[in-house]
Amino acid sequence: MAWRCSGSSNEELVDNLYKAGIIKSSRIRDAMKATDRKFYCLPGSDPYEDAPQRLGFSATISAPHMHAHALEYLVDHLKPGARVLDVGCGSGYLVGILHELVQPGGKVVGIDHIKGLTDMSISNLRKDKHSALLDSGAIQIITGDGRQGFTSAAPYDAIHVGAASPSKPVELIKQLANGGRMFVPVGTYMQDVWLFDKDHEGNVKEEKLFGVQYVPLTDAPTA
Ligand code: SAH
Repeated sequence: MAWRCSGSSNEELVDNLYKAGIIKSSRIRDAMKATDRKFYCLPGSDPYEDAPQRLGFSATISAPHMHAHALEYLVDHLKPGARVLDVGCGSGYLVGILHELVQPGGKVVGIDHIKGLTDMSISNLRKDKHSALLDSGAIQIITGDGRQGFTSAAPYDAIHVGAASPSKPVELIKQLANGGRMFVPVGTYMQDVWLFDKDHEGNVKEEKLFGVQYVPLTDAPTA
């Protein structure tokens, strides 16, 4: 897939993901075009390659087709004014895209347990024209254990988890709004993406989608 969707610019990368049918929604295409991946990759990496890139701190920015895929499952919950949580925000790239989708009036919280990465997220988002949103709180980046979510901004209309939860993410399910949806890889050696949907009465429906290989949600490394 990488050779097919990579581009020589952000525009070309996103157009190739769209042509390949990985991006289906024009809203996702436009939000990904408005968020240049170069601001979220380290100098010397290849931001327009459809592949993960090293961020340092043993983390990578996920491949664009993985982000596109996750966004497709969440898009109906990413309306203007929606509240969103991105667990394991790493580079901050998805936070930037998510914000494009929920403005005006929406709020996106990114959480990562490595301070070096949350500092990087903030600096990347500032490079990508988002300083005012960080200053107003429309985008909030938190250093903490994402397995516990972030209760002060809950409930969330959409939750994306960018690392695998070893078991059912009970605390995060609690923080879903009625009508909300979570996209989360679950498992240890064998992992699958699960969708958790909370209906308007608060009942939760779960659906297993497909096998994946994500890094696990872990305890923060001790310095
Ligand atoms: N989605 C991000 C990064 C994905 S890599 C991007 O594309 O840029 C997975 C991320 O999960 C890493 O940044 C790692 O630090 C983070 N992570 C792992 N365990 C965590 C935990 N318990 N709480 C918060 N973040 C965690």
